[in-house]
Amino acid sequence: EFNQIGWNFDNSYARLPKKFFSYVEPEPVRSPMLVAFNKTLANSLGLDMKKLESDEGVLAFGGNEIPQGSEPLAQAYAGHQFGHFTMLGDGRAVLLGEHMTPSGERYDIQLKGSGQTPYSRGGDGRATLGPMLREYIISEAMYGLGIPTTLSLAVVTTGEAVMREKPLPGAVLTRVAASHIRVGTFQYMANWGTEQELRILADYTIKRHFPEVEKDENPYLSLLGEVIKRQATLIAKWQHVGFIHGVMNTDNMAISGETIDYGPCAFMDKYDPATVFSSIDRKGRYAYGNQPGIAVWNLTRFAESLLPLLDENEDQAIEMAKDTLSTFSTLYHDNWITGMREKLGIYNKEEEDQTLAESLLKLMEEYNADYTNTFRGLTMNELDSTGLLEKEAFKQWHKEWKERLERQQENEKESRQLMRNSNPAVIPRNHRVEEALEAAVAKGDYSVMEGLLKVLSNPYAYSPEQEEYAKPPEPSDCLYQTFCG
Ligand code: AMP
Ligand code: MG
Ligand code: MG
Repeated sequence: EFNQIGWNFDNSYARLPKKFFSYVEPEPVRSPMLVAFNKTLANSLGLDMKKLESDEGVLAFGGNEIPQGSEPLAQAYAGHQFGHFTMLGDGRAVLLGEHMTPSGERYDIQLKGSGQTPYSRGGDGRATLGPMLREYIISEAMYGLGIPTTLSLAVVTTGEAVMREKPLPGAVLTRVAASHIRVGTFQYMANWGTEQELRILADYTIKRHFPEVEKDENPYLSLLGEVIKRQATLIAKWQHVGFIHGVMNTDNMAISGETIDYGPCAFMDKYDPATVFSSIDRKGRYAYGNQPGIAVWNLTRFAESLLPLLDENEDQAIEMAKDTLSTFSTLYHDNWITGMREKLGIYNKEEEDQTLAESLLKLMEEYNADYTNTFRGLTMNELDSTGLLEKEAFKQWHKEWKERLERQQENEKESRQLMRNSNPAVIPRNHRVEEALEAAVAKGDYSVMEGLLKVLSNPYAYSPEQEEYAKPPEPSDCLYQTFCG
């Protein structure tokens, strides 16, 4: 069904049994105003940019008008939040539907901050401008870095205040995702659905994301294996760029393997595996260095949910699940070391490459070196700003690294090229993101954010305009925490 803007909805989730969701329309907002709009994304979705920016489009982004073909619903899901299991669901979001692009791809179109739903649990269903712009910026940055992620199509302000510790400007984000099926969706069905409903969810997920396993001998075991693969790939990519998700609850882990739910996330400046930014993560459960382990923990919850489908015999099912879960560590490590070799300009494989990479990280930690800029410095052969050059231990490491590069066919130029493609010159540094949000939220000045988005769109460009953005924070910027909202 096409309409003028180009929305082409085919709502497969709405055709699932009623246990999966609740029909709920977005609550209209007072005066939606478009403040961020992703034209590149609109274009690739086959939507009419001009019409999206017009009143009709903006009213839809605010939830005031429902686009033709949309069947708004809130999805039910559960999840472990900081280790504690609970019923959740879309408490402040609605899925407008699934848009089919001209090339036949299916994307969820979701409004986040669109009002209360049956899953709001006393919350107001709203979102504030700062965090929605934050999700917009970080998801764009992840996309630029080549990391699987949900995307942000638009942010509108609502003209309404949202009460937090103080009144804050409200906003609605339009999020685009391969799907919003989470580990928590499976936990919900495993706990409150019938086995038949759980099977419907698994079949639906296979059909949508892993059609290649449909004919496997045990498709549900294959599903587990494929989800593990995607997470092993994803988390290694996070580690390579120093991304810290901040709330790796099972409801925030997407089955598609996309990064989802940008709350208190941030990129690490100085290398330290204990880095945490979230003010609510007091024990550091979701610290940088814990992310691979937490992924396994979450995937184990996923496997538990699938047990009834894996085998009629529960002991047998548990054995199968354990065997498959044990693949994560090798898969993750392969992804990690492959990426580290690339970051170091290494094409061939040697056993000791792991030690080489790990010793560099140790040195960064010991000497409080900036993670991104150490790799950027190695890439550009300009390590002055890192403070590492004056350290004997680093000089020794550097010599060993140079010797390692000699032990491959590729020349120096080829190594540098590999490094340039693997080490971002810029990341969305916290102080830069905060500066952009401050200008936008407090002053209505979106130019700072636009400048940041521009350099983040090609983080591997190594262009002169990126230099300013590559600078690490001043010490005064460092006491930094992000907050949900
Ligand atoms: P999150 O921490 O954003 O992943 O959200 C965790 C759960 O809380 C999800 O079920 C959300 O839908 C819900 N939630 C977060 N903020 C609100 C809000 N303002 N009103 C209602 N539900 C919310
Ligand atoms: Mg969430
Ligand atoms: Mg330290």
